[in-house]
Amino acid sequence: MSRLLPVEDAQARLLALRDPLPPENIAFSESLGRYLSHDIVAKRDQPAAPLSAMDGYAIRFADLPGPWTIAGEIPVGAAPAHPLAAGSAMRIFTGAMLPDGADTVVIQEDVAADGARLTLTGDGPAAHGAHIRARGSDFIAGAPLLPAGTRLHPGAIAAAIMGGAAQLGVGARPRVAILTTGDELVQPGRALAPGQIPDSNGTMLAAMLAGEPALVSLPLHIRDDREILARVLKDLARRHDVIVTVGGASVGDHDHVRGALDDAGGTIDFWKIAMRPGKPLIAGTIGDALLLGLPGNPSSAFVTATLLLIPLVRHLAGARDPLPQVRQAALAVSLGPGGQRRDYLRARLDGGLLTPFDGQDSGRTFPLAAANALVIRAIGAAPRDAGEPASYIDIA
Ligand code: AMP
Ligand code: MG
Repeated sequence: MSRLLPVEDAQARLLALRDPLPPENIAFSESLGRYLSHDIVAKRDQPAAPLSAMDGYAIRFADLPGPWTIAGEIPVGAAPAHPLAAGSAMRIFTGAMLPDGADTVVIQEDVAADGARLTLTGDGPAAHGAHIRARGSDFIAGAPLLPAGTRLHPGAIAAAIMGGAAQLGVGARPRVAILTTGDELVQPGRALAPGQIPDSNGTMLAAMLAGEPALVSLPLHIRDDREILARVLKDLARRHDVIVTVGGASVGDHDHVRGALDDAGGTIDFWKIAMRPGKPLIAGTIGDALLLGLPGNPSSAFVTATLLLIPLVRHLAGARDPLPQVRQAALAVSLGPGGQRRDYLRARLDGGLLTPFDGQDSGRTFPLAAANALVIRAIGAAPRDAGEPASYIDIA
């Protein structure tokens, strides 16, 4: 038996096959889920001047407990027209600039205005500087806001905008083709003849990639025909960065992916990983494109896509940290010993406890509908009792 590649080695070798794609500049509104191609450093102080954090009146702390003469109102979004004189107060709103001379804000609930006269009716500000956002209290110019390779989530986009960036440089999106293979497969929703099954993997993989920075072509399906497969692979390789095939990766008489890759002038980098499900995975290159040959069983396709396809897409799109995060939680039930390959058990994480499902046959799709975690069981792991910790990947 040929040696099976450990999962980490397979991931490292796959990502090492190609560098990330070159960066491109995009608008903020297009940036969700993309990976920064450079560090974001603040170009400005935020706030750039002291601002009020509340609706109320700008005062001098030394003038407490008042009363004050109201000397006008400060508009939001403009510099105050004049400084604050001793004994006076100026009406101010959240986000407006403090006038020179003011050092504290008294909230409007604590005072009463009668014409131009303002008196304290509540406790008043507790300290000098109360209810003021100091200049640079969020960040100062030159502060590192986001490192290159960060995935842009809504909060990160907000920070980049507030830091004064004009647009964002991000890694380009890999173009991904999905190709399902199998004489038994029928388009989703179509009537089935005896022996046929719906092609669920194509649409599942497209859905897994939908939240990723990738340009995914509509899934194609072809029959188990080595010649056609070779021709289609060659053609897809001209227009894609990644070709994902599903099925036909094993050693059956109708498993043609390796042979077709060879016929099309491609090269295999590795085949067969020490994981369950997912052993017969193929990684290779054809022209400038990468080929990832996933096994066809629905759970195998799902698990290998989670561990290899998604990380590959993220790597090409510029991710600093493309691999799935491994977390820890306690087992709700006991778990038997590990075998010769690392297991990724479809499981449910509820209330902080992990329950791997009883039926782990990789041909089943129903557990995929219920699973929100993959429990990782090491090769040769000792049996574990309920309550003991286990590693898992979040797939919710
Ligand atoms: P294969 O890897 O081609 O030997 O396929 C393994 C199993 O997965 C077989 O039972 C196939 O019928 C099934 N299968 C292959 N491709 C798909 C697909 N796209 N959708 C659903 N099941 C599939
Ligand atoms: Mg097949």
